[in-house]
Amino acid sequence: MKFVEQRRQRLTQLRRLRPQFNEIFDFYEHLYAFLAKQPNAFVSIAAPTPADRVPHEAGFPLLQSTSFQVDGPSFGAFLRALIAVLQRHGRQGQEDLARIDQALADATLDPAPLFGAYVGRERERFAADAAHLGIEPAILEYLLGLACGFALHGAREQGLKAAEGEWRQGYCPLCGGVPVMGELVGDEGRLLLHCGTCGQSWPGARRTCTVCGNQDEKTLEYFTAGEDQGYRVNVCRKCDSYLKVVDSRETGTDLPMDLEDVATLHLDLLAQREGFTRVKRDYAPADTGKAGLN
Ligand SMILES: [Zn+2]
Ligand SMILES: [Zn+2]
Repeated sequence: MKFVEQRRQRLTQLRRLRPQFNEIFDFYEHLYAFLAKQPNAFVSIAAPTPADRVPHEAGFPLLQSTSFQVDGPSFGAFLRALIAVLQRHGRQGQEDLARIDQALADATLDPAPLFGAYVGRERERFAADAAHLGIEPAILEYLLGLACGFALHGAREQGLKAAEGEWRQGYCPLCGGVPVMGELVGDEGRLLLHCGTCGQSWPGARRTCTVCGNQDEKTLEYFTAGEDQGYRVNVCRKCDSYLKVVDSRETGTDLPMDLEDVATLHLDLLAQREGFTRVKRDYAPADTGKAGLN
């Protein structure tokens, strides 16, 4: 799995560049060591049919909650092994993780439907399962996010991709995830958006807010932190959202953006201190009109 190896290599560089985050990087090192050994055999994704392309061309992500066939027992085993990593090397939500683990062991939680529910943003499913287990939905979503991210990155490495061509939405054409980072590429600094779930990238409009579609330059700004010209934060004063952006002309290309996100936590703190909010993952494809860049 190249994507796991790529992240492990970038971690080595990041430890040198941002030693203040080494404790967080330790966690990711353990996580990637675990993922590198996983076969990713718990889900199969049906090849998209021409019928699937119709809603896709109308602005819906290619993958829907029904696109996945999940093998319950092997997915449960994967999740339990993942929980063990989080219990050994993570800090938060330990009590909730133990409850999820127990429910998987007792087969009182069926994990298979949660995969599609995560990609399809069916929050009520997470709320119901979390209430049943007496835990926070966020920890269950976090766990599923790690599992879906792993499976979808693997599927992309095997050739899964969204249709070529124009995509003017603020969410991922393949899985509907929100951008985890933007990237400026090429001499002219075109904006690419990178999905935080599956890693797919798509072109964004540079002087447009990816959340509300605002194009008024007076309310679109960006700031940098100190001397670091490789990273900036785009903010929109109309909807008070922000997006962190890597300038790959400064940093080099092909960085794993989910990890760049982790390595730029200081920018989140700055943006949030100024009252800006990050795009939420539940920014639903159903809101096409609102999320569109038109
Ligand atoms: Zn995606
Ligand atoms: Zn906006």
